[in-house]
Order: sequence, then C-alpha cells, then structure tokens
Amino acid sequence: MITVSRRSALMLAAAAAGGAGIATLALNAGDPPERVSSPPPPGRARWSNWSGLHTCDPEALAAPADVEELRDIVLKAKGPIRPVGAGHSFSPLVPTEGTIVSLDRLKGIVSHESGTATVGAGIRLFALGEALEGIGQSMEALPDINKQSLAGALATATHGMGRAFGSLSESISSLQLMTADGKVLECDAERNAELFAATRVSLGALGIVTQARLKTRGPLRLRRRTWFEPIGDAIAAAAERSRSHRHYEFYYVTFTGMAYCISHDETDTPVTPRKPNAENEGTEDLMTLRDWLCWAPWLRRLVAQGLISNQETEGVVGPAWRLLSTDRPKRFNEMEYHLPEAALKACLEEVIAAVERHSEVYFPIEVRFIAPDTSWLSPFFERASASIAVHMGHTQDHSFFFRDIEPIFRRFDGRPHWGKLHSLGARELAPLYPRWREFTELRRTYDSAGRFLNPHLRSTFQG
Ligand SMILES: Cc1cc2nc3c(=O)[nH]c(=O)nc-3n(C[C@H](O)[C@H](O)[C@H](O)COP(=O)(O)OP(=O)(O)OC[C@H]3O[C@@H](n4cnc5c(N)ncnc54)[C@H](O)[C@@H]3O)c2cc1C
Repeated sequence: MITVSRRSALMLAAAAAGGAGIATLALNAGDPPERVSSPPPPGRARWSNWSGLHTCDPEALAAPADVEELRDIVLKAKGPIRPVGAGHSFSPLVPTEGTIVSLDRLKGIVSHESGTATVGAGIRLFALGEALEGIGQSMEALPDINKQSLAGALATATHGMGRAFGSLSESISSLQLMTADGKVLECDAERNAELFAATRVSLGALGIVTQARLKTRGPLRLRRRTWFEPIGDAIAAAAERSRSHRHYEFYYVTFTGMAYCISHDETDTPVTPRKPNAENEGTEDLMTLRDWLCWAPWLRRLVAQGLISNQETEGVVGPAWRLLSTDRPKRFNEMEYHLPEAALKACLEEVIAAVERHSEVYFPIEVRFIAPDTSWLSPFFERASASIAVHMGHTQDHSFFFRDIEPIFRRFDGRPHWGKLHSLGARELAPLYPRWREFTELRRTYDSAGRFLNPHLRSTFQG
C-alpha cells in the first residue's frame, strides 16, 4: 500500500545490512504454502471466499435469471439457503451445505430519476459506478475496492471513508426483500418501516434482497492526494483532517513509524491520467523488507524510512467511482472494528504496539472515519465512528488477531465489521446494539425455521 520499488528496497536493504557489518542473509519469516485440499465430492461445486479462508461444497449453487426463478429456488430448496455476492467477506457468512444463491444476473438499472436510481441488488459496485456515470449520477461514497455486489455490501454495512458519510446502507431509500415464504416485500420509511430499518444491514439473515433504490447525486469528480508523515503527526491531525477533507484516511505502515495519508476533495479541474496502482507493489516491498530484516527491527525501520522519504506524492483528478476504489490483487485476511471516535488515539497506539510484537506482519493498519447510521445492526448505529483494520497475508497465521488485537478493540467499546474476522457470538453482540432484540424478533418472525441461517449466523443470533 506504499509506493516503493522492490528493486530499490532490496538494494537498500542489502546496503544497509552490509554497512552495519551484518551478513545479508534473507531470513524468510516463513509464510506457509497455499492450503491444499481434497476435491469436492462428485456432483458438487466448491465455493470459496476471496481470501480462501472459507470453503464449502453446497448441494446447489444457483443464479436465477429473475425473481420468479428465485422464488422457485427458495420454495423448493430442502436445506439452508445462503445468498452470496462476490464472496469478499472474511467472516463465514456464506458457507452452507445447502443452497448458495447468487444474484449475479439481477444487476441492471431498473429505473431512475433525478437523485435516485433503482437497481438489481446483484450489481457489482464497479458496474454500478459505470452505469450511474452513464445516466449522469454518482454515489456519494464507496469502499476501497469495488468488486462487491451491492446487496453484499449492504448486508455487512460496508463503508468508505469520510466523516460526512455513513455506510452504503444509508444511501438506500427503499428495497425489495424475498422472505422464506417466497413473498416479495416492499420496504421503505412508510411500508414495512421496521423491516426497512432491519434489512438494510441484515447479514442475509432475513431473506434475499432483490432490488434497491439508491439516493444518488450528480457526477462527482475528486482530487486525490497522498503523502507520508510520522505517525504521531497523522494521529494528531486526524480529527481536523477528517472534517476539512471530503474523504480522509490514513494507514500506519507497520515497523516504520510512518503514516501514508490519503485525502479526496471535490474539484472541477480536468481529469488527469493515473499511473498504474503502485500501492500493491509497495505491499510486496514491505513483505520483502520483512523477509530480509525481520530479525533487526531497528534496521527494518531505518531502511523503510529511507525508502519512504524518497517517495513522490500522488496528485490525481478523476471520477469518484474510479478514484475511491482500487484493486487489491495481494490477498489477505482482515479484522476491523468500529470505535467511538474519541477512542481512536488510545486504541490505535495500543493496536500498533500489539501488532509490532509480531515481526511477521507487513500489511499496513488502516484508519477511517464514518458518520452515524440508522440501520439497527449497522456497527455505526447512532455513533460517529473511527475504524481500525489489521491485515495479514492470506496464507499466514492470523490467530493473534483474536488473541492480542480483538481484546483491545473490545476494551474500547468496538463493534466488529460484520464482513471481517471477529469471534463474537450473540451474548457479546447483544449489548453492543440498542435494537438487537427487535432485530432478532423480526428474524424469528420472518424466518421461524432458520432457513437463512448457517452455523456462523446461528452463533451470531442464538449462540
Ligand atoms: C479486498 C477487500 C477489500 C475490502 N474493503 C472494504 C472497505 O473498504 N470497506 C468495507 O466496509 N468493507 C470492505 N471489505 C469487506 C466487504 O465489503 C464486505 O465483506 C462485503 O459484504 C462483501 O460483499 P460481497 O458482495 O462479496 O458479499 P458476500 O461476502 O458474498 O456476502 C456478504 C453478506 O451479504 C449477504 N448477501 C449477499 N447477497 C445478498 C442478497 N441479495 N440479499 C441478502 N443478503 C445478501 C450474504 O449472505 C452475506 O451475509 C473488503 C473486502 C475485501 C476482500
């Protein structure tokens, strides 16, 4: 996620280690090889999430062409049913032995007028951005990748960055929900209002969202700026910058003492060409530094700081839907908690100290700000939040997230991102959500047989 060239990193690392009179021995911190698994049983297709952490061999993987086909699947499926989007969640929300249903074919713009667009819930965010641009509209905010389906992003309260914006679920003004009996319910502030408050962030546990109406705005062009600075300065300036920029976030670049800051502000200056995404090469370079110098933290820090001080800052102008989201070809697993804003500094300092006790880490720590939400199970429910996310390479052992990092988040009153790793069950979750009881009652009303539950959701709502 930082912009350094691998070759220069290696040369500098070698020079620094040689200059210090230490053999330039590449000590690989030892990522285990890719997981090898047996093939699925005959007649079954394997499903896997993006990071490869969760797999299952469902009885059926269905992609209905329309709502009638979807109803047929819901009514005839014998076992549990789990809706799926792009499989980009790190938590096991989707795996089932029963039926996995994808709305990949329900993805068009159904209708639009000034300030709103109604779309098929299976549309991916990158396609949504492009389609909205085609009708002179734009979303207000987007997450840092755009591969997710709209329905998947809503279900977990996926968010972008920006103190003025809640999660994507806040941009929904109405939606259609197919419940376990095959009925399609219209939900908005007037019709099924309680269900509307529950369904916008529902983990796919109330039924299948088939269509959503979005609140949109006219075309949005942004200027993106990136720069490095000492982490202490970034923490001190964070609250003010989150107010003065339309979108602001920063990463702590682990084992460097430095932050990588990103701001986006509205502009009407002409679009500029953007270089290929160098952030991923930067992540590779951090991994290489880890491999070479994990045995000498002081040297690792020195070399990284030398590299960072030579970095160009980025200044680029483009449409919001292209600039706010980037590619993440290097796979990882992630834990993210959302905290009361005032807890950010103290919590982040503890998290950094805990992460840096693990020299095998090389991914940065991400910090964002999000406005309060109104959906009952949004982790931003009625709370202005700062979020902190920790990442670990997808083949690496991430068990220290649960052992060392999650207890810190919990002490600071954090609520976990539903789509990312966490270990909380119903007992721990209920006190975090003022409308928990109402949500679980609605869930029992609309799905009394638990047809939309898998083991993870049973522990979420019943465990
Ligand atoms: C590289 C990467 C970057 C990410 N960046 C961000 C980020 O910047 N901000 C952020 O907040 N999160 C981020 N995430 C997390 C991600 O946005 C969420 O986990 C999101 O839910 C994934 O969407 P999906 O379409 O892949 O859904 P899936 O992971 O397939 O499913 C997620 C949930 O949605 C439900 N669902 C899917 N379709 C429907 C439907 N039609 N009706 C009802 N329920 C449905 C599923 O049952 C499940 O509970 C990132 C994840 C990855 C892998």
